[in-house]
Amino acid sequence: MKTKPFTLLVVDDSQALLPHLVRTLGPEDFALRVARSGPEALGLTQEVDGVLLCPGEASPAEAHALLEALTPPGPTPRPPVVVLAPPEDKALRLAALRRGAELILTPWDEEELRIRLYRSLETHQKWTELHSQVEELRRLAVTDGLTQVHNHRYFQERLREEFRRAQRYDESLSLILVDLDHFKNINDAHGHGAGDRVLREVAASLQHSVRETDLVARYGGEEFAILLPCTHLPGALTVAERVRRGISDLHAGPEGALRVTASLGVSSFPHRAILTPEQLLLTADEALYRAKREGRDRICLHPPAPLFSAPPSRVG
Ligand code: GH3
Ligand code: MG
Ligand code: MG
Repeated sequence: MKTKPFTLLVVDDSQALLPHLVRTLGPEDFALRVARSGPEALGLTQEVDGVLLCPGEASPAEAHALLEALTPPGPTPRPPVVVLAPPEDKALRLAALRRGAELILTPWDEEELRIRLYRSLETHQKWTELHSQVEELRRLAVTDGLTQVHNHRYFQERLREEFRRAQRYDESLSLILVDLDHFKNINDAHGHGAGDRVLREVAASLQHSVRETDLVARYGGEEFAILLPCTHLPGALTVAERVRRGISDLHAGPEGALRVTASLGVSSFPHRAILTPEQLLLTADEALYRAKREGRDRICLHPPAPLFSAPPSRVG
């Protein structure tokens, strides 16, 4: 709901119409700002709710150029434009309509001008609000509510997409699965609230440990997945070790007194046993369960062989 007047930019090089417009529009609905030239108007468009283009002393070519500059094609957000055009200037009338501007013929009827302007600005405002609500819904649909990293559904979508891309362009793709160790004990000893807080802190730590082009998602409960496009197994192992350390260095929970560790399973495409995204997931999961069996707080790889001299007790 509108609680204050719309800010309307009046573009009028002659300033001849201004007194009449001030009388017609009234301060409770419109706060007027004035630009005397096209460049001045273009500099102010981000600060106003709408633009009223008046037929002044500008040549038809100038008026058209300004109309085009005020109504660029594409998704760039811009305020709505209302054009005051004399009935005989058919070219301007048609140009205004083609570019999605509201058109009002001169001489105008005061009430009609007020209503059309108000409606135009109000419609635009509602559309802008709707647009930002859609954006927020889009974000929520791919975000895990507790940890604010991506959710399981989005991870599955991107896993398939990135796998296709890696296959097509002969790129590598790695997957790290992270499962917190004995997390049930944290809940049992400190309550679910503390457990939730630790999950949020772990998620933030994961996000810090990877590049912006990598994808961190909550796979379920206390499990996370990290997708690393264009990353082969040795590169993924380096990231996994940074992730493992990041988690074990955390002073988590309400008083920063809780410590957690995680087990990690890493798998990479291309590999002769990995021909589908499901196989990438399965092999990373197998590696993760090996890490659990072998004592937790460690990284296991698919295939199960150390690649270089990382700490031997932590990589298998
Ligand atoms: P392991 O080392 O074998 O992985 O042991 P674990 O205790 O982590 O594994 P288990 O699968 O037995 O238990 C997972 C625990 O994670 C149990 C569940 O209470 C906890 N958990 C899952 N989701 C949430 C959540 O959203 N919030 C909290 N606080 N705890 C969760
Ligand atoms: Mg688990
Ligand atoms: Mg666990």
